[in-house]
Amino acid sequence: MTLAADISEMPTQIKNNFADELAARVSSATLIRRDEPMAKHTTLRVGGPADVYVEPASEADLALVLQWCGERCVKFFILGRGSNLIVRDGGFRGVVICLSSPEFSRIEIDGVRIRAGAGVKQKNVAVEAKRNGLSGVEFLEGIPGSIGGALRMNAGAMGGETFNAVESVRVMDFAGNISELSPPEMLVTYRSCATLKNHIALGAVFQCKPEPREEIEKRMKAYSEMRWSSQPAAPSAGCMFKNPPAIPAGKLIDELGLKGAKVGGARISQEHGNFLVNDGGAMAKDVLELIEILRAKARAERGIDLHTEVEIVGED
Ligand SMILES: Cc1cc2nc3c(=O)[nH]c(=O)nc-3n(C[C@H](O)[C@H](O)[C@H](O)COP(=O)(O)OP(=O)(O)OC[C@H]3O[C@@H](n4cnc5c(N)ncnc54)[C@H](O)[C@@H]3O)c2cc1C
Repeated sequence: MTLAADISEMPTQIKNNFADELAARVSSATLIRRDEPMAKHTTLRVGGPADVYVEPASEADLALVLQWCGERCVKFFILGRGSNLIVRDGGFRGVVICLSSPEFSRIEIDGVRIRAGAGVKQKNVAVEAKRNGLSGVEFLEGIPGSIGGALRMNAGAMGGETFNAVESVRVMDFAGNISELSPPEMLVTYRSCATLKNHIALGAVFQCKPEPREEIEKRMKAYSEMRWSSQPAAPSAGCMFKNPPAIPAGKLIDELGLKGAKVGGARISQEHGNFLVNDGGAMAKDVLELIEILRAKARAERGIDLHTEVEIVGED
């Protein structure tokens, strides 16, 4: 996210010092690891190691990590549950920050409002809302990301999207300053919130409507059935491409006759052409090669440019 000195060429000792320096800044409750395999943190199960991986234990520790990255000109990346992400096989040079500690994983209900930390699973917000007879966030039930990722991506499904239900978002800028923003103060578009390119979402308040639990349950069940009738169960990063204006990407890939095509352990799903799945043992380079094959064929045969919805980070 920040531009930085490249620490890729630095000897291991210096990288180790970076982890030690960070550890000296923050509380002992903050988790810090070196050379953390990112394949463990992406739903596609690919990705090389992050030089340093941090789970801040508190907002104060997060601010200290950001300040340290700024001072040292070290690049950082905010990771949710890695469900809209490909990390290249060479991994990430810099610091990956994940808000998955208990501090960022709380859900509180206050009347028709739900306050959820950035690290809370989207599904858990939908389930908690249902338990409390609150509707408006049912569409989150099958999206495998965190609330931080939902806000950054303005995630949506079944005709709903995250910012339809958001009342306010607690954010931290890269200098560590915290503020509370309302949706009109944020740049929100289809599957994106640009404000969160240079702010970190710490959590959000969702405003729901009271509704009988059985009605909410019925809707969530229907959504789940609809999703699993069209979506593969194998590891993936969800829809790989944005839908071009002319045709949904999945239909286009189907019409190009590419369903089932494979490179290494990566395959274009038979169930849904816009899903690239990991059959086991796929590398990021396999997935990236399949992406290029798809893009080239779409361009050559239909004159359509496919753009990835999934974010691609890291080094080859
Ligand atoms: C099987 C499957 C089904 C899916 N179905 C849907 C669907 O129906 N609808 C849909 O919209 N998406 C869907 N997705 C995509 C994905 O789940 C969503 O985009 C989700 O919101 C990403 O959340 P995440 O926590 O995994 O984010 P990540 O993939 O970890 O990160 C995505 C982006 O968000 C940023 N980010 C993460 N946390 C924060 C934070 N706290 N502050 C600022 N930026 C942050 C990251 O830096 C990155 O730029 C699906 C994915 C899969 C694998």
